[in-house]
Amino acid sequence: MFITRRSFFRYCTLSAAALGLGPTQLGLLREALANPAAPSVVWLIGSACTGCVGTCASFGGIPASGSNPSHCMGVQRFTGRSTINISGCPANPDWVVWAIVQLLTGTPVALDEDSRPSALYTTSHVGAPEEPFIHNKCGRNPGVTNLAPATSFGQNGLCLRDLGCRGPNTKSRCEASWNGIGGHLAGQPHPGHWCIGVNANCHGCVEKTFPGPESFFEYYNPNP
Ligand code: SF4
Ligand code: SF4
Repeated sequence: MFITRRSFFRYCTLSAAALGLGPTQLGLLREALANPAAPSVVWLIGSACTGCVGTCASFGGIPASGSNPSHCMGVQRFTGRSTINISGCPANPDWVVWAIVQLLTGTPVALDEDSRPSALYTTSHVGAPEEPFIHNKCGRNPGVTNLAPATSFGQNGLCLRDLGCRGPNTKSRCEASWNGIGGHLAGQPHPGHWCIGVNANCHGCVEKTFPGPESFFEYYNPNP
């Protein structure tokens, strides 16, 4: 797919809030894209750091699960190179664009313990501390609702932990993505279209433990 610099910049401008790009960074991006010496194609793998998109590239993901007869593994483990892991199954496209903008503007990217950008997974876009676990940002958290957990699917508003939800073990900012922006708080009329917002389980798709041998629909114990 061919994307012009103009189209890329227009997309970043229109989606600035979702991408976490402020006026300063948009200005830097405009300069970077206007530079005649700017690359027409961004080869992430040719950078000092390789960009991995998706949980398979980041950690092995589904191809590395089970008996893994083809010995699949993440790029970092296979190559021994530093990587920026944009994990997710699928990876959030806004996060991929965000990472490209950081590289184009020469902005350093702080990474978490799994080489994922902290700004996308464990802090706010501007690096402010934020509760990292999905569980603590979920409107169905029994600590907030004082309601007993769900015993079967379809019981609206009840916690799905006993039915396999991995929110307590998953660090991610999905509540600020997947059209969930601004609508993820308990009591708000529009819950957003992230997994929790549509009353589903979190499967922990951004984690290196995904998918693992455990059932998605039974209580999840990451250290059985
Ligand atoms: S549904 Fe999942 S994320 Fe929400 S409170 Fe229950 S275990 Fe936590
Ligand atoms: S809420 Fe969980 S399963 Fe859904 S996209 Fe985020 S990490 Fe993946």
